[in-house]
Amino acid sequence: MIQALRGTRDILPEEVGYWQLIEATVREILSRAVYQEIRVPIFEQTALFERGIGEATDVVGKEMYTFSSRGDKSITLRPEGTAGVVRAYIQNKLHAQGGVQRLWYSGPMFRYERPQAGRQRQFHQVGLELLGCDAPRADVEVIALATDILRTLGLKNLELEINSVGNSQDRAQYREALISYLEPYQGDLDPDSQDRLTRNPLRILDSKDPKTQEIAQNAPKISENLSTESKKHFDLVLQLLTDLKIKYQINHCLVRGLDYYTHTAFEIKSDDLGAQATVCGGGRYDGLVKELGGPETQAVGWAIGMERLVLLLQQLESNLVNIPDMYIISRGEAAEAQGLILAQKLRNLGLRVELDLSSSAFGKQFKRADRSGAVACLILGDAEAQSNTVNLKWLASGEQQAITQSNLLDMVEELKLKIASLK
Ligand code: ATP
Ligand code: MG
Repeated sequence: MIQALRGTRDILPEEVGYWQLIEATVREILSRAVYQEIRVPIFEQTALFERGIGEATDVVGKEMYTFSSRGDKSITLRPEGTAGVVRAYIQNKLHAQGGVQRLWYSGPMFRYERPQAGRQRQFHQVGLELLGCDAPRADVEVIALATDILRTLGLKNLELEINSVGNSQDRAQYREALISYLEPYQGDLDPDSQDRLTRNPLRILDSKDPKTQEIAQNAPKISENLSTESKKHFDLVLQLLTDLKIKYQINHCLVRGLDYYTHTAFEIKSDDLGAQATVCGGGRYDGLVKELGGPETQAVGWAIGMERLVLLLQQLESNLVNIPDMYIISRGEAAEAQGLILAQKLRNLGLRVELDLSSSAFGKQFKRADRSGAVACLILGDAEAQSNTVNLKWLASGEQQAITQSNLLDMVEELKLKIASLK
């Protein structure tokens, strides 16, 4: 049989609740900050990514899915979201509206990588871009939104790492200093890093090779070699994070892989993800809009890897996704019809209700009710159907009461509170 391609996977119904929870949370939190969704194509001209991401990066050098279209144009499946959003911003003259543009996106991205937990060839990102503002407050607004999203989803053990790569002059100067420092160690660097020494030396700093990491530890630090202006930007970002009580750790080796990053670079990592620890990566990219043919526009943004977020949510103990509030058990023709009607009424009143459709023995239905994770269960048999009553059973304590169906519907608000406290 024909199998799905390596590095791609199906998101099955048992998992999709996590995705929907992430999407709903992102939509809610970003709309409160007046970010608007933008949807851009999944493939673009290859040149967009070559210029926007940089030819010396892994993404462009090794990871892109590039093919020639029937018209002989070179086309690439998007490996990330920013380049496409910026192209759309320029092409549709969103800058002409003046002021800042706050945009977000989500969808599949494609990179030819070695698949492993938290690393796929088709993966998904949700990301945002704040265009048209160079204030350090903008950097901190976007970081705060990322931490809000992750916190609202219930994630813990997250660490924000931050660095500044300065402006393009700072970077160019630092590049020279770094090359001079690294050259004597050339033979000790891993092969990829040797290759990067002249092409993309900053990337050597985040090499995963232990020997290279050791060498990088003692390299000159970019955030300590910034111009006065860049240092002021970085210091203010750090101060504002402190004001917002967002904890951070400065990581001198954090430079991100993409050429267009300036000033702030950051990552949010989790201890619970093994090797693929970074959930969110972002930073400022003041050079990109101009590089892609638009007017000079400062910008800052981030992207969250959704697969990694789902892995983290699945590890949470209090996992509320896909769990009904109430499970309905019924047996007998009249009882089953009433069960169906009750399920609909309770759902319309805002409860999440799972109806057992099996008509099997009560014992079997009870087992499924327990397995569903519901805290409450409604039981309807012939006797209940005749008297228009229902048995309400609290599954953890076994406590049970018979009430009329209309009383049950009247006390839904009370039930919701009790269910929430028992979850
Ligand atoms: P990594 O160091 O893990 O390769 P990256 O620097 O290539 O990450 P970015 O380009 O900054 O990642 O993308 C932002 C986020 O998208 C990452 O932090 C991660 O959560 C997610 N991501 C990137 N590549 C993949 C992938 N192949 N599969 C799943 N998620 C990914
Ligand atoms: Mg990568």
